[in-house]
Amino acid sequence: MRYKSLEKLSEDVIKCKKCELYKSRNKSVPGRGKKDNKIIFVGEAPGAEEDEKGIPFCGRGGKLLRNSIREVGIEDTEVYITNLVKCRPPKNRRPTEEEIESCNKYLQEEIRLIKPKITVLLGKTAIKKQHEDVLLKEQHGKIINKKESRYLLTYHPAAILRNQTKISTWIDDLKLIKKYYKKK
Ligand code: SF4
Repeated sequence: MRYKSLEKLSEDVIKCKKCELYKSRNKSVPGRGKKDNKIIFVGEAPGAEEDEKGIPFCGRGGKLLRNSIREVGIEDTEVYITNLVKCRPPKNRRPTEEEIESCNKYLQEEIRLIKPKITVLLGKTAIKKQHEDVLLKEQHGKIINKKESRYLLTYHPAAILRNQTKISTWIDDLKLIKKYYKKK
């Protein structure tokens, strides 16, 4: 199905039962932002707080992400934030290939509707879905141009919370967004 709007897509995500994750979620977590946000951030999956509130990146990792993008000169209102899977995997385990595949249609439709100028892939799982398996310590900060789309590979904010020595490296990665994304 091709969606006409992000609003309709969100409505379907909220009631979706296409994979087993619907059984354990509290709330599914649609992407958040507007069609004219030409920067998309893609994480792995909602965590506990997101699952409670139904809002992506509203926990500690999300706060770090928002503060960091502000630090590089980008406003929250300029970005669309979403995840590979829209429901929290139990105990925050990695989503399975099948779960990612079941949910992928929503992500592809978000990208089709928004037509981002740059898509920021947060963490190994999000990167692996769009590209190959990467060693993030070697590949972060890499810009990939693929089928008229531009991707920036970087760490997931949860990884930065676990190892705060990486924060300046992460901020340097995020600065690349400004280099490749110019507002009209
Ligand atoms: S993770 Fe995605 S496919 Fe699975 S139930 Fe949630 S919205 Fe549907």
